Amino acid sequence: MSISSELFSRAQHTIPGGVNSPVRAFKSVGGEPFFVARADGAYLFDVDGKRYIDYIGSWGPMLLGHNNPVIRQAVIDAAAHGLSFGAPCPAEVTMAETVAKLVPSMEMLRMVSSGTEATMSAIRLARGYTGRDTIVKFEGCYHGHADSLLVKAGSGALTLGVPNSPGVPADFAKYTLTCEFNNLAQIQQLFAAQGSEIACIIVEPVAGNMNCIPPEPGFLEGLRQLCDDYGSVLIFDEVMTGFRVALGGAQAYYGVKPDLTTLGKIIGGGMPVGAFGGKKAIMQHIAPLGPVYQAGTLSGNPIAMAAGLAAMQEISKPGVYEALTEKTSRLITGLAQAAAQHGVPMSFNQVGGMFGMFFTNEGRVSNYQQATRCDIAAFKQFFHGMLEQGIYLAPSAYEAGFLSLAHTDDDLAETISAAAKTFAAL
Ligand code: PMP
Repeated sequence: MSISSELFSRAQHTIPGGVNSPVRAFKSVGGEPFFVARADGAYLFDVDGKRYIDYIGSWGPMLLGHNNPVIRQAVIDAAAHGLSFGAPCPAEVTMAETVAKLVPSMEMLRMVSSGTEATMSAIRLARGYTGRDTIVKFEGCYHGHADSLLVKAGSGALTLGVPNSPGVPADFAKYTLTCEFNNLAQIQQLFAAQGSEIACIIVEPVAGNMNCIPPEPGFLEGLRQLCDDYGSVLIFDEVMTGFRVALGGAQAYYGVKPDLTTLGKIIGGGMPVGAFGGKKAIMQHIAPLGPVYQAGTLSGNPIAMAAGLAAMQEISKPGVYEALTEKTSRLITGLAQAAAQHGVPMSFNQVGGMFGMFFTNEGRVSNYQQATRCDIAAFKQFFHGMLEQGIYLAPSAYEAGFLSLAHTDDDLAETISAAAKTFAAL
């Protein structure tokens, strides 16, 4: 029995499903997860000594590769001064200034410790600011696991087929309306009927929790217009896309300015960090300036701030996003060619450093219905074929893939050749 297997069976006695986040359990692809001993650059090394080229990157944060030496040193240096203060520290100010500069729509922001906290707080703020209860999200978009947002959610909720989680009171869920991503006409109709009751629209500007689906031209612009017309707050959930598709996030990439933005993942450089922020006029409603309550024991934690600041500094260097995008394009092109050579019908999406692959013969995938019509059996076979050859893809057909700057030409070539072998066997 492998050490991973032993750990997994031990874990199941005291951790639900053996994991601390559901998708890690490999439930939808079958088999058992491996346990990680260490990570470096583009690689994960499991407890049995096997190396994997990693296309998950801790689900997004590892844009610079695992165990980046600059971030590591910043964490070590900060740790020498204490682990948590529960009082203001200088790094928090620098962090807020840095983010506000990189993402100018975030005139004011507050740090939290996860993406879930960021979106939950942004929703509360939008409700408090507008005095309205109803919110709108899109089918297949995932915004963390706060109650109002676990309605027709993507990611693990979609992978495991629990669109509306038990434990979310129906009386509460009724305030969350859902529309189809990339269907502007539908949300326009909804607003025409009840726009004046809607506190906010929350959207992943590139959907990354039902695989990877970019917005159709005009979609984000249309949401902006609706919010302007009806006095609703437009929230871009950039927990995944922030610093991933471009330095200024999806809002810079597509040139659409939200009222509020949520961030996570990359902003923490691998530490548990999130942030929400936006227009001063809205952010001023947060306590202690205003009446909307939000707080956190570990918010603005000095170690997390140090890691995040080091990450921001590294990704702000010239050429980072060009290199990341080029690597991602090269991978996608190679995979598409290999699939075509072996007669496997597939379709690929890419925005900057994130990508999606779909086992489908429908061509370009641009909505939830198409994403969920893909051949899941083929995906599972592909996932395991790649895993055997030391290539680690997300263990779900409904997650985006992530490249890092640490992925070398050899890593990409090895991945494409492993894919060709796997396609041949499909
Ligand atoms: N929003 C988006 C778009 C996400 O992708 C995620 C997590 N994958 C979250 C929110 C929740 O973040 P966290 O897991 O840090 O709570």
